[in-house]
Amino acid sequence: MSPVARRPRLVAGNWKMHKTGVEGATLAHELAALLGARPQCTVVVCPPFVALDSVRGALRGSAIALGAQNLHPEPRGAFTGEISGPMLAAAGCRYVIVGHSERRHGMGEDDALVARKLRAARRDGLTPIVCVGETLSERDQGLTADVLVRQIRGAYEGLSPAEAQETVVAYEPVWAIGTGRVATPEQARDAHRIIRATLDRVVAPGAGAKMCILYGGSVNADSAPGLFADPEIDGALVGGASLEAAAFFRVVAAAAAAIAPV
Ligand code: PEP
Repeated sequence: MSPVARRPRLVAGNWKMHKTGVEGATLAHELAALLGARPQCTVVVCPPFVALDSVRGALRGSAIALGAQNLHPEPRGAFTGEISGPMLAAAGCRYVIVGHSERRHGMGEDDALVARKLRAARRDGLTPIVCVGETLSERDQGLTADVLVRQIRGAYEGLSPAEAQETVVAYEPVWAIGTGRVATPEQARDAHRIIRATLDRVVAPGAGAKMCILYGGSVNADSAPGLFADPEIDGALVGGASLEAAAFFRVVAAAAAAIAPV
């Protein structure tokens, strides 16, 4: 398949609650060796908080960026067990995942909290990767578009086009996360189009076309080429397949293979 002109690519690995500092450093070393000094797309790894420092050390000199999996909206204060944006920036993070479905559905994060976290990330110089997506029951009830519009509106209302463009959206259907059930490229494309159209309405006309929108949900080396062949899909947020260097490298390679000069 010939490469197509498109927005810059980004592939991010969400390690979730996996890898100690030592294990994370090993994985980061392996990945850096495989990717070389100049991977053809932006590559981010998001280890657990306690592994950030050792992974940062292991990534030194590589082009792989460091991200975190969550942040508290306040910069400091009496919030036991929480981590703030300034702490993440000081730990070397450039990205932070916001509104992952495991936090929306497992920890009760609502749209208002996700909006605060998005703004906190920007305030603290971090690029938020804002996750949205419907559950299986919402999809079965024909509510996918309603959910995506509500979540995008909740997160982006009030942002300027320039502010929005400095964020990344990840479309992550909840039924595809960690299940081995990948959305088809058509399902992902339809969702990405809804997200772009919503950004056009909520932020400004034309805003959606400029945004980097990732697909996430059981992406692996087999499914990645088909997804990345679609010009609506600008990269991936990868969970399980990011825990092994060779597997993650093959996803990154698939993303890079579809790139052509715009
Ligand atoms: C994720 O954690 O965001 C994710 C997409 O996980 P997985 O790739 O394992 O489905």
